[in-house]
This record gives sequence, C-alpha cells and structure tokens, in this order.
Amino acid sequence: MANYWNQEIECMSREDMKKLQDERLVAQVKYVYDNVKYYRDLMDEKGVKPEDISGTDDLHKLPFLSKADLRDAYPYGLLAKPLSECVRIQSTSGTTGKRVVAFYTQNDIDLWEDCCARAIVAAGGTKEDVCQVCYGYGLFTGGPGLNGGSHKVGCLTLPMSSGNTERQISFMRDLGSTILCCTPSYAAYIGETLHDMGYTTDDIKLKAGIFGAEPWTEEMRHSIEESLGIKAYDIYGLTETSGPGVSFECSEQTGMHINEDHFIPEIIDPETGEVLPDGEVGELVFTSITKEAFPLLRYRTRDLCVLSRKKCSCGRTLIKMSKPMGRSDDMLIIRGVNVFPSQIETVLIEKGYTPNYLIEVDRVNNTDTLDISVEINPDMGENIAAQEKALATAMKTMLGINPKVHLVEQKSITRSEGKAVRVIDRRKLHD
Ligand code: ADP
Ligand code: ZN
Repeated sequence: MANYWNQEIECMSREDMKKLQDERLVAQVKYVYDNVKYYRDLMDEKGVKPEDISGTDDLHKLPFLSKADLRDAYPYGLLAKPLSECVRIQSTSGTTGKRVVAFYTQNDIDLWEDCCARAIVAAGGTKEDVCQVCYGYGLFTGGPGLNGGSHKVGCLTLPMSSGNTERQISFMRDLGSTILCCTPSYAAYIGETLHDMGYTTDDIKLKAGIFGAEPWTEEMRHSIEESLGIKAYDIYGLTETSGPGVSFECSEQTGMHINEDHFIPEIIDPETGEVLPDGEVGELVFTSITKEAFPLLRYRTRDLCVLSRKKCSCGRTLIKMSKPMGRSDDMLIIRGVNVFPSQIETVLIEKGYTPNYLIEVDRVNNTDTLDISVEINPDMGENIAAQEKALATAMKTMLGINPKVHLVEQKSITRSEGKAVRVIDRRKLHD
C-alpha cells in the first residue's frame, strides 16, 4: 500500500519544490503547446513560445485560460490526448452557467485519487477507518474523487452518494462510520437529522469530516463539529483541475495545503490580471503540471482567497490557501456595496441561528432590496419583531447596508444534499 502521508513531497524544502515545479512546468508547457491548438493559438497571440518558459519565474508570461475559454472549446478543444487514451469524463455541477467537461487518462485518475488520499490521511484517516462518502456520485467530482482516495488509503468505503438522509444515519450507526465526506451544508443537515431521530453523538463513531465543494464559514465549522462530535476539515478543488483534493486541511485547520507537486497557484488582481504577492486577497489561478488529458495553464478559478507560506505546525511545507470567501461571481453588489453570502452566514450563526437561510435580492423603484429569511430559534423567546430587528442591526454592522430580516418557521427552508443554493437574485430577471 502506497504511503499517502508523503513526507518527501509534503515537507519538501521550498528550493526543492521550486526545482520540481520548474522542471514539470517546462515539460508541461511544451506538451500543451504541441498538443492543444486552442492553447497554442493563445500563446502565439501573446507572442510566447515554450522556449520562453524556463521555470516558474516565467509563469506570468503565459496567457490566462478562463471559464469562457473552456466553454468555447467545449467539448474537445482543450484535449491534449487522443480520446482513445481517455478513460473518464466528469463535469461541473453547473452552479454558474453551462457545464464544463473534463477528461481523464488513467494516470490522471490515479494522481487525482492520490491527492484525495492525502486529504483523508491529513484528516487522520487510516486503513482502520470506515469512510462514508455522501458527496454526489456521477458527473460531479465529489463522490468519485473521495471514493477513489478512500480506497487508496484502504478505508472501508461506503459509496452512499447524497440523499436519503435517514438511511445515511442508519448505515453510519450500523457500520460504525468514522469519517464523513460531503458538502458542509449536507453535513449540517445530517447532524440535524441525527438529533431529530433522537440520537446524540454518543450513538455514532464519527471522528472526522472532510467537507468542501462550496464556501462555508468558521462559524458553520464549529456548528457542524458540535452537532456531529467531530473535527471538520476543509477540502477544495474544481472539476477543471480534476476535482476535490487540489488542497486540503491539516490538523492546524488554518487554511488548506495545496498539492504543489501537481498544481502551481498564483493570486491575481481579478481586474488587471496582475500577480499579487502572498498575503493579498485576489483570484486564485492554477497551472497543472502533471495532468495529461486536460491540462490547464494559468486557469482563472474566479475563487477569491489568500496564499500563505507561514510555517505550519503539521510539518507540511506545502503553501496554504485560505478558505475561499466565495467566487468573484458569488459576490452580490447591493446598493453599490459588495456583499458575500458568507458574511451573512457568519452573523446568523454567531447570533445563535442555524445555517439554514435564504438571501433574496431584488430591485424595487430603482433601489436594490435585500431580504434574508432565517429559521426561528425557539430558545430565543417569543418577541419575533425584536429578534428580527436585532439581527438586522448586526447585519448592518457586518455588511454596511440594512437588510430586511424575516424569521420563518423551523424546517421551512429547504435543506441541501449537495451544494446549497442560498441566493436568489431577481434583479437578473428584470435585466
Ligand atoms: P461548479 O463550478 O459548477 O460548482 P465544481 O463542482 O467543479 O463546479 O465546483 C468547483 C467550485 O466549488 C470551486 O471553483 C469553488 O468555487 C467551489 N469550492 C470547492 N471547494 C470549496 C471549498 N472548500 N470552499 C469554498 N468553495 C469551494
Ligand atoms: Zn499543516
């Protein structure tokens, strides 16, 4: 059994990692230029040749690739291997528009699963564990990715997929699941259902959760950790880069280590494209240096975060990315103010409400309106109007604008079994 606590790579010195990345990047750029016409055209347009790239210091010379390019090139335009060498496709969940299709060779699948295996090991997983995977299976990368990682670690894998929450809990109890993999919103729902069924954390054996595929706040983490009696680890990835496992959290839980032997991250100013120094918030850009079928050079993820090389107590030297605070296209501009759903979530949980909420934005008489529905907490007494007012005031402090808060009945907001949909922006319908 391979070792997925890969100390040699995960604790490599900065110099050695840079050397490895330099070598792999030079080879990858040449490979992409020779095999992908779409990217060759982009490079030619920018006047860059593979010979101009002698290492990571030259990365900035390469053109960016955007989601629009992926859609333009759909379905085969970015393929670098003949189809006969490909063994799988996966596809985005289409959260923000037309689907993107990614292709994999067997080697791509192996490396992707290795990345997920590292994440499971970082969360304390071993072959003694029972790993319940409740990410969706199918085109979505969550289920297949963690399933493959779990096999590699040697865990007993429960390929549950999402949904049928009471059955999830029966299996969890009967088979003694110790690790849970799903979206954070589904983890919150599973926790809620566990308690609704009359159980407590004493009735399950879970110790860790590996949650990702959507933004979630620290407050949400604490609430899930408490409700399931576990330590909750973040995991990040996107279909374009293979899927989950691009980065993963360790025991320190202060950001996700990026698998730098496979992906080179950059942070750019989303407006100007200029590369920003570590520590500044900007758009995350990835260059894959080991992918075969669907390689990406300088792919703009639209996810906003910060990179940090601060020493980590776990011993890994892999660079860390902060929790993405959302995608640049998740950001709502309401009355000229930038609002992220995650800010609203922070306030709600801090004030003792559940992470079940719905944000509705509209435009009435040329003015943007913001309505936030959240379920009542019966422990907070009967004066609903006063509670709504207090919550609106706290929101105003966080957001800088005044929302209308509506306390609604418990369990009236639809629970998510995959990626939660928490925003309805009706302004788009009028445009
Ligand atoms: P879609 O773009 O249709 O949602 P994917 O399923 O490939 O397709 O989702 C990838 C996106 O999910 C990422 O670009 C990011 O916005 C989000 N995401 C994935 N993991 C995390 C995470 N741990 N925290 C925040 N956002 C995440
Ligand atoms: Zn660490």
